[in-house]
Amino acid sequence: MSKEENLECSFCGRKKAETDLLIAGMDAHICDKCIEQAHGIVEEEISDAKSNDLSKDLTLKKPKEIKEFLDQYIIGQVETKKAMSVAVYNHYKRLLQSKDEKDEVEIEKSNIVLVGETGTGKTLVAKTIARMLNVPFAIVDATVLTQAGYVGEDVESILSKLLQAADYDVEKAQRGIIFIDEIDKIARKGDNPSITRDVSGEGVQQALLKLLEGTVVNVAPKGGRKHPEQKFIEVDTKEILFIAGGAFSGIERFISKRLNMQAVGFGASLDDDKVDEENLLQYIIPSDLKAFGLIPEIIGRLPVLSYMNPLDAKTLRAILTEPKNAIIKQYSKLFTMDDVAFTITEGALNYIVDKAVEYKLGARGLRSLCEAIFTDAMFDLPSSDEKEFKVTKIYAEAKLTKTALKKLRAAS
Ligand code: ADP
Repeated sequence: MSKEENLECSFCGRKKAETDLLIAGMDAHICDKCIEQAHGIVEEEISDAKSNDLSKDLTLKKPKEIKEFLDQYIIGQVETKKAMSVAVYNHYKRLLQSKDEKDEVEIEKSNIVLVGETGTGKTLVAKTIARMLNVPFAIVDATVLTQAGYVGEDVESILSKLLQAADYDVEKAQRGIIFIDEIDKIARKGDNPSITRDVSGEGVQQALLKLLEGTVVNVAPKGGRKHPEQKFIEVDTKEILFIAGGAFSGIERFISKRLNMQAVGFGASLDDDKVDEENLLQYIIPSDLKAFGLIPEIIGRLPVLSYMNPLDAKTLRAILTEPKNAIIKQYSKLFTMDDVAFTITEGALNYIVDKAVEYKLGARGLRSLCEAIFTDAMFDLPSSDEKEFKVTKIYAEAKLTKTALKKLRAAS
């Protein structure tokens, strides 16, 4: 036998011939199989260390601190920021508790439902919470969901998005946040549930129930490069925080009807606080969601209900410049990168807000308006010697032609 064939793995003792590869070290050898095994051990150790870090992180933020973080990015919406801070705090308290199985008092999930017009910051609030907690975040649109067996996406597809956001780290995904947008679109149509089979609405609500409460789901890892051999990944949803959002347009009439009934009901007094007819959403309670067409079981699994205020001119003005990553700050940074000193006058800022209000463009429109005003400068300045760019109301007016504005309105 040659000397070469005598070689063996110093870890498992396999002869060279029994291995695919034997790598030589200073005075030892290791075979491919042992390398693979050792790699597995290293990965496991690292992921254990990571999840320990996670539980340390979770104890950190108190509701007040959570709200302070939200304040940096979200203007106004005080009630929602407070409600969210408490809900998120309790949610993570619950996660810490669930390790201690012996405890008899089981804290229920604090999934959240946010009601408010589009563009008032529902997604922003959810996204900001996820950023603060440094957990994976996925946005799904309830309108594309269908009951299993119908054309469209199964409810389980929600989880494959979260898995993707967590880079297929199941542990991480299981502590993530899912924002379900347009939850109002799966409301039951009509008051009598038994008249027709309502494929798009009630069926999806039923399918969502288990997910919201906590269940183990087999998820197809769509485009999962890392698990080509694995058909399904098991994801437990019991620690995932769900935040649902919707405009619920027309829900005011249910709120108003309820308030009127209360007003004439027993015990009502004429001196009761006056109802603010302009913003009825602030009086919303779970039974209004039921009147709108959400099934009681779904409402029960979204126990935290809050509302978003419509954005007035003052709020829009603040959104332009105050948040940590405010639109104007972003443009200023872009110009600075070209060594251009960028300034904008109060008159120009107010003009942008006025147009957003006049053309009903909302907060999203602020960005499109800025884009329309600054595009020429962003095109020309990088190749010119000009080192200053001052935007005045006159400049903004000149750039925002009627056609540009009409286009923006059509696109919004
Ligand atoms: P919604 O989910 O309610 O439709 P978004 O969260 O998508 O609304 O809001 C759209 C954009 O408008 C956000 O990305 C953000 O730039 C801006 N915005 C809306 N409301 C606020 C707010 N209260 N504070 C700061 N920015 C806001």
